Amino acid sequence: MAGREQSIAESRNHWLLISFAISALLLLLLVGSLLHTQRTLARFETTQIELEHIAGELLYHIQGLQTSAMLAASTGDLNWQQRHQTHQRAARRSLARLDELASEAAVVETLGTLRERLEQAEGLYRDIFQALTQGRTEEAEAILDGWPHVRNRKALRSGAQELSHLLRDDVRSRLAVQQRLTRSTVQAVAAISVVMLFCWYMALRSWSLSLRKRREQEAEVLYLSYHDELTGLQNRRGFMEAAEEAVARSVRYGRPLSALFIDVDYFKQVNDAGGHAAGDRVLVRLAGLLSGEVRDCDVLGRLGGEEFGVLLPETTPQGGLQLAERIRGRVAAMAVDDDDGHRLRVTVSIGVAGMGTGVEGLEGLLRAADDALYAAKSGGRDRVVASEA
Ligand code: GH3
Ligand code: MG
Ligand code: MG
Repeated sequence: MAGREQSIAESRNHWLLISFAISALLLLLLVGSLLHTQRTLARFETTQIELEHIAGELLYHIQGLQTSAMLAASTGDLNWQQRHQTHQRAARRSLARLDELASEAAVVETLGTLRERLEQAEGLYRDIFQALTQGRTEEAEAILDGWPHVRNRKALRSGAQELSHLLRDDVRSRLAVQQRLTRSTVQAVAAISVVMLFCWYMALRSWSLSLRKRREQEAEVLYLSYHDELTGLQNRRGFMEAAEEAVARSVRYGRPLSALFIDVDYFKQVNDAGGHAAGDRVLVRLAGLLSGEVRDCDVLGRLGGEEFGVLLPETTPQGGLQLAERIRGRVAAMAVDDDDGHRLRVTVSIGVAGMGTGVEGLEGLLRAADDALYAAKSGGRDRVVASEA
């Protein structure tokens, strides 16, 4: 689990990079789709709607030119010819404009057919008005009722209607495509957003993991700078800082304070006889024993190799001596197995000093305890000596 978390923390830049890439993709997609929609709408406005409008006009003018010719023939009133020509010109204009705008193949094809029909119709109407002008009304009516004109008239109307339908269908299909595109874009944006959110979550998780890891490392470094790795006791630095506080409190409130310096006797020989690892085990057992003997308010630390210090607040040198004797006795009774299964036994020498006459400040207290320890060593070891200061 820790390994997995570490790998997540290490890949934080990776997740962040993916998040940024997806955000950019999302932005591109949104901008692209927006531009496309805008273009499509603009095209509808400028082309499709105009196309539909002109197709309607074309149908109107085709009907107009047919009606005006029929009215001219039935009434004999040649004023309808003018009207007829106006519709004819307008129909041509509409066709020309449709030609310009149309791009769909089916629309272009229908336009071509319409133009042919219109040209045919123009030929027929020319004949009809010529006959009317010359007073041959019957001939004009015969052309109007004749099959070529009837067929052409129907074809023109249905062509114009078909064109209108085609254009309307085209608009509808384009709108449907646009709708589908918009729906797909929304779905894509939603899917990509989910992925992006996941990436952001992973990036944030990695950040918090790496932050936690760094805090743990800092806490570990702090712990190691004040503790001894082998025994877990405070090291000299931790002991000295705690001791300064204990001495300051003792001085300020005029309370007793005692110090014990404990050194293993002939520890070099223990290492030589049982091996360094066995020596380590002795130190760990000794640390455990000392921890069990002192109170929570006492300060205990490993000051160096096989040397330990204890500060006893609210304790007179007599109280310190009693504890030192108890410790000495318990250590002497302690046995640790070496690598070959032999029992190792050690003794300790202890120097005891207390704050008071002749002993002032932390330095003085420690020096007095050290001197007492030296005296215990000189006196033959495995003993407790109280400072004479
Ligand atoms: P004395 O009675 O005079 O104190 O004799 P001693 O042999 O205990 O004293 P000395 O200072 O000559 O030797 C201390 C030995 O402690 C030397 C060193 O190898 C050993 N030592 C120091 N630190 C460690 C440690 O962390 N583990 C082990 N196994 N041995 C250590
Ligand atoms: Mg020693
Ligand atoms: Mg020593």
